[in-house]
Amino acid sequence: MAKCIKDLNLKGKRVFIRVDFNVPVKSGVVKDDTRIVEAMKTIRYAQGQGAKVILASHLGRPKGEKNPDYTLAPVAKYITDKFMPVTFVEDCIGAPVADAVAKMNDGDVILLENLRYYKGEEKNDPEFVKALAANAGVYINDAFGTCHRKHASTYGMAELIHDKAAGFLVEKEIQYFSQLIKNPARPFGAIVGGAKVSDKIGVIKSLLELADDIFVGGAMAYTFLKYQGHTVGTSMVEDDQLNVVEEIFAIAKKKQVKIMLPMDHVISKEFCGEPCACDCADIPDGCMGLDIGPKTADMYIHELNRCKTILWNGPMGVFENPQYANGTFSIARALGGAEGTVVVGGGDSVAAVNLAGVSDTIDHISTGGGASLEFIEFGSLPGIDILDRN
Ligand code: AMP
Repeated sequence: MAKCIKDLNLKGKRVFIRVDFNVPVKSGVVKDDTRIVEAMKTIRYAQGQGAKVILASHLGRPKGEKNPDYTLAPVAKYITDKFMPVTFVEDCIGAPVADAVAKMNDGDVILLENLRYYKGEEKNDPEFVKALAANAGVYINDAFGTCHRKHASTYGMAELIHDKAAGFLVEKEIQYFSQLIKNPARPFGAIVGGAKVSDKIGVIKSLLELADDIFVGGAMAYTFLKYQGHTVGTSMVEDDQLNVVEEIFAIAKKKQVKIMLPMDHVISKEFCGEPCACDCADIPDGCMGLDIGPKTADMYIHELNRCKTILWNGPMGVFENPQYANGTFSIARALGGAEGTVVVGGGDSVAAVNLAGVSDTIDHISTGGGASLEFIEFGSLPGIDILDRN
């Protein structure tokens, strides 16, 4: 377990906090403040301890170039208007940062400009790391969503700085995912959906070692159904993954993990055309599956209600279109009322529980889709492991 911010003395120190302020900004206005709100606990704590708080984040993909479309200035303004005064610094390295830090009093907060204005950030370039670290005495990582990346601000800095720890957000993510992979209350049901089997093979294989039941939805279900000999019409299928699915079934049999597949669907003749019910597992010629059907949703929910631990990653259908969203929202609502510990990760599933209005009753909503999958697959993440190394 990585050290937490509470384990460090922050008084009077220059505390560099890597946060995730990669928020949607339109015409200079922050459109969703979830990530900002989530980072506030750590920021307030550091401020309360009398630290000089230096916040740093990426925003979008400016591809290593200074581009005003990706400035973090609106985020500094948003925090100042809503939470606390924050001084925005128009660079993340060099003299502007050194000058701003020199003027700080204990308890002051500054936000640096987008880290990805420099190519060195994603390349973990040693010179860029040194330039970032020049203005920091203590390093805190509170950006779980980027902990699977070995970037300058998520990895290189932690290699260089001795006093380092996880922020409260990262600590909470570690607690939930460690529990999930080390000691889950059983039965443990994992719901995996989304577009492709190939994107989630690693995590599915890990779940075969961890879970008791795996519920498959989304387009990836059709590759499983095809392997079983069902007709799938024109549904999205990855033929080159059929051998992987064969391997998944073989491991599941050996480990006595149940793999649940859709028994009915919502289909259409064209992508998101007029929806039509398909009452059995076989999809007719010329039609594609775009959502799990009501029988499947009921069966999944019934089985999930037995589970003491539930993990959800990936939608059950093309939920962006309301005509194909019922499966995903039925699962979201059921998880909202589930008695077991529920952990939801991945942008689409998180959006679904938010839209279904049940996020308050979900035990843990992960802030990192890719990061949470890699945590399950590998048991930890580079940006977390490095916090324990001296
Ligand atoms: P992922 O990023 O792998 O979790 O996939 C999410 C995407 O999968 C969403 O944009 C969904 O619209 C899409 N998706 C889910 N079910 C289907 C389906 N049956 N056919 C095509 N796309 C789907």
